[in-house]
Amino acid sequence: MTINPPTIRDIEAKVQTGERLTFDDGIFLDERADLFTLGRLANLVRERKNGNAAYYNTNIHLNPTNVCVYRCRFCAFRADLRDEKAYAFTDEMLRERILEGRSQGATEIHVVGGLHHQKSFDWYVNVVRVLHETCPEIHVKAWTPVEIHWFSYLTKKPYDWVLQQMLDAGLGSMPGGGAEIFHPEVRDQICEHKADSSSWIDIHRTAHGLGLRSNATMLYGHVEQARHRIDHLLQLRALQDETGGFQTFIPLAFHPENTKLDHIPKPTGMMDLRMVALSRLMLDNFDHIKAYWIMLGEKIAQVALGFGADDLDGTVVHELIYHDAGAKTPEGLTVAHIHRLIREAGRDPIERDTLYRRVYRDGAHWSVTAPRETAATT
Ligand code: SF4
Repeated sequence: MTINPPTIRDIEAKVQTGERLTFDDGIFLDERADLFTLGRLANLVRERKNGNAAYYNTNIHLNPTNVCVYRCRFCAFRADLRDEKAYAFTDEMLRERILEGRSQGATEIHVVGGLHHQKSFDWYVNVVRVLHETCPEIHVKAWTPVEIHWFSYLTKKPYDWVLQQMLDAGLGSMPGGGAEIFHPEVRDQICEHKADSSSWIDIHRTAHGLGLRSNATMLYGHVEQARHRIDHLLQLRALQDETGGFQTFIPLAFHPENTKLDHIPKPTGMMDLRMVALSRLMLDNFDHIKAYWIMLGEKIAQVALGFGADDLDGTVVHELIYHDAGAKTPEGLTVAHIHRLIREAGRDPIERDTLYRRVYRDGAHWSVTAPRETAATT
């Protein structure tokens, strides 16, 4: 029996009625749908879920060390211990960084880094503790499953134990990195040593079971093909069906500069927009799709707000990982500029905290409680 391949009309009918798209639908959309049809359908879902809102947050980044035991072929950030650029933060540097975040009104600090072979698990727990104790009002979003997997290896303890130590130290949620492309055909070529897809999934499952929220990513535009991307998205969708713990999905464009894959050209703007739209359509159980302006550039990220994305990430001060790989974007954007990007895209800017609660500001103070609600209760 021959099963007819999907047509764009079939897929459009499914999107209109909210019916779930299949693997074959995904392949069709990825490989054959024209960009504007893809964008129109993704925008339909985006507006159904988030109306005209476009979210951003005020955040600061921290990469506590770039020394790493692994050598992922797409990574320009890592260093060997004796490299000139190798570094590891001291407690004083951690305090300085988060106090800088406080002075800029940050609601979140995003923390990921290398797996330093001379640092113990306690050193990593201490990073979270120092940040949390210095500025308890700033949400600490830290460690990808690659790091949690490493900590489990160091301590010989299960993931839930490792995560509980981090929670006790002040961890607020987990970012979505380290996913790259789940399929082993790709993973074996670009990051053969680090945590595999089943570990990545299992760690997020465990985190969600402990009440932590997290994000998810996919690194596209290197050696992968459409079938690997759709497989990746469907694995994320299945875990979200099971736990509901993911908040947002971030398609990450590969940046080749200074990596072992520097012979591969950077994804084009067309591919970037396709990936945003495709993600929005396939991940029907994710509330948010982020156009991460650091990687996409401000202009594509702005256009992406009409192709399925409802979030631009944030002010992002001190981003290193993608700038080491050649990202030409500035190292931070002002809130005024983010507002301009969003308003010119015809959307309404809404500042959110890490958990997507609306942030209200009054001078240097911020709160996730609406001023009227405060007045009513005092
Ligand atoms: S991507 Fe992460 S795990 Fe891989 S080499 Fe870079 S820092 Fe290390």
